[in-house]
Amino acid sequence: MRFETGVATHTGLVRALNEDAYLVGPSLHAVADGMGGHACGDVASAIAVRELERVSEKPAFDPADVVTAIEQANAAILAEAAAHPEKEGMGTTLAGVAVVEHAGSPHWLVFNVGDSRVYRIGATPEQLTVDHSEVAELVAAGQLTAADARTHPLRHVITRSIGSPQVGPVDTWLIPICDGDLLLVCSDGLTGEVEETEIGRLVSTSPDLSTAAEALIRAALDGGGHDNVTAVLVRAFGSSGDDELVGRTQPRPDVRTTGR
Ligand code: MG
Repeated sequence: MRFETGVATHTGLVRALNEDAYLVGPSLHAVADGMGGHACGDVASAIAVRELERVSEKPAFDPADVVTAIEQANAAILAEAAAHPEKEGMGTTLAGVAVVEHAGSPHWLVFNVGDSRVYRIGATPEQLTVDHSEVAELVAAGQLTAADARTHPLRHVITRSIGSPQVGPVDTWLIPICDGDLLLVCSDGLTGEVEETEIGRLVSTSPDLSTAAEALIRAALDGGGHDNVTAVLVRAFGSSGDDELVGRTQPRPDVRTTGR
């Protein structure tokens, strides 16, 4: 199985600094959104991506390794803040997708803390992650529509983050990989500005994933560019017998799953 990726990021039109960070493949893709309003969000998002990158460099890893890396990122951010008082309160979201072997076949391991998102792109994009945010809870409780959530004053208030004493459970999902699957990992700077149907249209009408990622960023800027914006696209090709996947994510005898 082989993978094609495309990525783009932008500071946006309002913020002075891009506090988003990202990691691109070959078998681990992620976006971290350093928290606005907090000191040194860019430091927090960079630490989160660095810890994940260590996992991606291993010859083989499993879902538990990814969860452990996220917990280590949490500890590293807290330690950095403790050593540098000016960084106290920094934090980050982290959402992404890894390619792992599970039950003898390749799976997407989707993971999330906060309100960055992973979508499966189709005619209508399907959000695979669940936001850890105040408005997501209001939507789940039936007190707010998804459309109203995009403009709600509490839309930026997240209920789980990396860089807090209790990182809370890391949500993970294991999904079999199918030939042609196309996933998007993005920060809320995209989903806050661009409707999901438009995201699907832009990706499906672009000639390649790099162009698609650029088109998403441009749409977010056209929508106002109020936040940093990052989009990572990854598409799977071929059969699970291909060497590239096996070489990167050979299963260990003790593969564990944190999926649900
Ligand atoms: Mg953001």
